[in-house]
Amino acid sequence: MKAWDVIVIGAGAAGLMCAAEAGKRGRRVLLLDHGKRIGRKILMSGGGRCNFTNYFVEPAAYLCGNPHFVKSALARYTQWDFIALVEKHGIAYHEKTLGQLFCDDSAQEIVDMLVKECEDAGVTIRLRTEILNVERLGDGFMVATANDELSCQSLVVASGGLSMPKIGASPFGYKLAEQFGLKVLPTRAGLVPFTLQPEDKATLEPLAGVSLPVVAESEDGTRFAESLLFTHRGVSGPSVLQISSYWQAGEQVHFELLPAGGLAQGVADSPNQELKTWLSRHLPKRLVETLLEREQIGNKPLKQYVPKELAAIERLLSAWPLKPGGTEGYRTAEVTLGGVDTRELSSKTMMANKVPNLYFIGEVVDVTGWLGGYNFQWAWSGGWCAGQVV
Ligand SMILES: Cc1cc2nc3c(=O)[nH]c(=O)nc-3n(C[C@H](O)[C@H](O)[C@H](O)COP(=O)(O)OP(=O)(O)OC[C@H]3O[C@@H](n4cnc5c(N)ncnc54)[C@H](O)[C@@H]3O)c2cc1C
Repeated sequence: MKAWDVIVIGAGAAGLMCAAEAGKRGRRVLLLDHGKRIGRKILMSGGGRCNFTNYFVEPAAYLCGNPHFVKSALARYTQWDFIALVEKHGIAYHEKTLGQLFCDDSAQEIVDMLVKECEDAGVTIRLRTEILNVERLGDGFMVATANDELSCQSLVVASGGLSMPKIGASPFGYKLAEQFGLKVLPTRAGLVPFTLQPEDKATLEPLAGVSLPVVAESEDGTRFAESLLFTHRGVSGPSVLQISSYWQAGEQVHFELLPAGGLAQGVADSPNQELKTWLSRHLPKRLVETLLEREQIGNKPLKQYVPKELAAIERLLSAWPLKPGGTEGYRTAEVTLGGVDTRELSSKTMMANKVPNLYFIGEVVDVTGWLGGYNFQWAWSGGWCAGQVV
């Protein structure tokens, strides 16, 4: 049985970072993955340019059953540390919007950077390796693959979440956690487009391709000011992806299409203008037509509306309600909410409290960031922290 100091399962964002850091400390590290390529999600992220971190990373940008958990790792390995690594490797990048940092050229550069860090640290990477069984072996672990049996002092699970099963996502990490008696919180798709109820589909489907800036609000009052995109399947765009992580089945989402007060000003400025004409100056024309049709708002000159009618229209436009039929699910979700309960882990090292030398990092843990580079930063931070101690 070949003996390693550290085995890391999952050659994605968190696993690569952890393996490189552990290797730098002189540990003999084996990084295993069942896929045939390293860092596949990194490669397809950010439209192929990888939104690798965000200038404004802060604990409030993460959903977690135990919100304080993320503070330690994010403070110990920050966005500035990862930016310094990117700059050390001479990778050109830019801020796209809202602090989101992307490669100028290609996500491949981030993968190449992490692979180089692993190579320089003497890490062995083995792909196309199926893991059949993991068992306790003294203070360490025995890992049986389809080819051989391996032992290690520290085992790091970095196998990610359930989104995009086509590119290698698997429930491996959750099952392993349960095997060792750790609690796993229910999982669901996050950062995912909504599908529509049949009655909405009929009227909203023709809007496919229409996009506009909105503020999306979930029932718990969380708000995101980003764009909304109507699609053939439902609604998407950054505002929808963000709010989807805060949405529970059966709930409504509200979209502020126009800020309250705008219409009252319109009546004062253009009393003779028809509602439809006035609205079309502020919203996409196709959306205005659909709203009129769906809500049966009459169309007459603004001065003919009585205050009660104007207030009702303002209410509608400042909090347009939509009850999604569901989400597109793991097929298109960027992340998985839920996962290994953080109460089971040390926030400083990511080690399981009741299973010494077993670590969970990255998306397999019940930590989910906002859209915008926050999820990779969580993978880098947790991977780095574990890498210092395994
Ligand atoms: C389309 C898309 C775009 C995204 N864009 C961004 C973005 O721009 N910015 C951002 O911050 N986040 C983005 N994300 C989210 C981000 O990719 C993840 O949060 C991040 O990759 C999680 O890192 P991880 O190391 O935990 O898991 P992963 O990167 O998913 O790596 C897990 C690895 O484990 C391997 N594995 C799984 N099961 C097994 C098994 N049984 N045996 C062996 N190996 C296994 C997988 O093959 C994979 O290589 C995006 C996600 C998707 C799907």
